[in-house]
Amino acid sequence: MSVGASLLAVREQIEVTARAVGRAPESVRLIAVSKFHAAGAIREAYACGQRDFGENYVQELAEKARALADLTDLRWHFIGHLQRNKVKQVVAVGASIQSVDSERLIQSVASATASSGAPPTGIYIQVNVAGEAQKSGCTTHNVASLVAVARGLPSVELQGLMTIPPAGLAEAGTRRVYRELAALAAKNDLAGLSMGMTDDLEFAIAEGATVVRVGTAIFGPRSAA
Ligand SMILES: *Cc1c(COP(=O)(O)O)cnc(C)c1O
Repeated sequence: MSVGASLLAVREQIEVTARAVGRAPESVRLIAVSKFHAAGAIREAYACGQRDFGENYVQELAEKARALADLTDLRWHFIGHLQRNKVKQVVAVGASIQSVDSERLIQSVASATASSGAPPTGIYIQVNVAGEAQKSGCTTHNVASLVAVARGLPSVELQGLMTIPPAGLAEAGTRRVYRELAALAAKNDLAGLSMGMTDDLEFAIAEGATVVRVGTAIFGPRSAA
């Protein structure tokens, strides 16, 4: 299937799922996750109206942003693990950052944004809801303090919470993770909920996702994990 046809199918899946649970389809934003796929594939999706794209690696994001600089209304979202010494490069392309998980990282994003003179950088706090070892994301207990830090910094715009559920969970387990993220967001008065990927976006939408991050269903399999 072409990128355009796959994109249409995903949009339809979002629309049908949202309506089935009584939500407006426009309340769910689709980020097309383009890691490991060529700039040409992004152009194809852009030509079909897609504007939000997600990348996991700083170098790859920088190269694609350069190659696609003519698409001025394309929006980048950084969704991978981010080291503080690379924050500047991400801020330079105007990306929002969905993988913020420590106070030091929030402060780096704020200072890189302030010194570049750019408008506030949109951020999501990534939460390791299931408490998996070796997984990015703050603990559920840390969310409130990171929210307070972010709210005190004018150069970041805190938009919501993001999570990646443990791999291989059945529907009930995945939904429990998403429900917990939604409860944490509500408790902290945050509207944005970035959750749901190719295999579980329907569960995520049912649990209140406002952003889904979909790669494989749009661009096909990746050559590397
Ligand atoms: C790769 C990735 C996705 C997309 O996953 P698919 O299963 O290909 O849809 C979504 N979110 C994050 C954080 C990712 O790293």
